[in-house]
Amino acid sequence: MKDFEYFAPKKVEECLSLLSQYKKEAKIMAGGQSMLVLMRHGLLSPEYVIDVKGLSEMEYIDYDEGKGLRIGALTTHRDIEKSPVIMKYFGVLSEMERNLATIQTRNWGTIGGNLCHGDPAGDPAVVLIALNAKLKLIRQGQQRIIDMEKYSKDLLEVDLESEEMLTEIQVPIQRPRTGIAHEKLMVMQGDAGIVGAAVSITLKPGNGICEDARIALSNAASIPLRAKDAEKRLTGKEINIALLDEASQVASQEADPPSDVHGSAEYRREMIKVFVRRAAIMALERAKKG
Ligand SMILES: Cc1cc2nc3c(=O)[nH]c(=O)nc-3n(C[C@H](O)[C@H](O)[C@H](O)COP(=O)(O)OP(=O)(O)OC[C@H]3O[C@@H](n4cnc5c(N)ncnc54)[C@H](O)[C@@H]3O)c2cc1C
Repeated sequence: MKDFEYFAPKKVEECLSLLSQYKKEAKIMAGGQSMLVLMRHGLLSPEYVIDVKGLSEMEYIDYDEGKGLRIGALTTHRDIEKSPVIMKYFGVLSEMERNLATIQTRNWGTIGGNLCHGDPAGDPAVVLIALNAKLKLIRQGQQRIIDMEKYSKDLLEVDLESEEMLTEIQVPIQRPRTGIAHEKLMVMQGDAGIVGAAVSITLKPGNGICEDARIALSNAASIPLRAKDAEKRLTGKEINIALLDEASQVASQEADPPSDVHGSAEYRREMIKVFVRRAAIMALERAKKG
């Protein structure tokens, strides 16, 4: 690994000042779990590493009945998994975290690091797209809010300037009669998903017609993919199994999955059908209860 200069700022402002000073030569490190792998393989060689793990002001979970959920970017996967407020109001986030890696990895890895790494196989991104979440990005004297679904640009590339940092994930209150579920194909519990699907379904009051649907897929393209054509098959209709089969089929056609040692593109397309269908059935059941 190439030598680098190490900083451990005590305040966010200090971190922003370092980013502004060193720009592309600097890289933020949160848990380091993805970043150090890239550095060890020589794929990333920052001159300056800014270790933000000690910035406790970015580690929080806040819930407000009007504004919704706000998660600090340095919150660990394990804290999200175990948060009573998340279990109560956003159970799908807790379920997703339970299937993400091992307890050791969840204890140290952060939600912000996961999203900024930009891995299309990542689990949080698709669930947050289904939840219509937003991200807060700040740089010295400026901030912007961006939709989670617009954050990914390409494989391991996100909409993050070199002087910016992700500080917060914002999840709106879900409408009544909304059900959300996440399913991923794992060889063993906690494995990275060969494919994954997060589905949100909102039903109209009274008649069970689908008012809104959001479907997001992991490891199905170079970015976490929103399957908008599949969503359109559900919206405005009464959902039954035949319709879910059709939507799952459309989602698999929208995908452009990779081929690798874990599965061919063809296999992934088949599995996308299965996992979209599974997640949609669960989301529908939850929507009927909600
Ligand atoms: C063995 C193993 C198994 C895993 N399995 C899964 C899995 O099943 N599903 C899954 O989704 N993930 C999985 N992961 C990824 C893991 O969940 C972590 O979230 C991920 O490694 C990144 O978190 P980190 O805090 O370590 O980030 P880092 O490695 O420190 O950072 C990752 C990237 O984000 C940038 N960054 C970090 N924080 C910020 C910030 N606040 N603002 C701007 N840029 C920032 C860094 O500069 C770097 O480019 C696994 C990881 C390991 C090691």
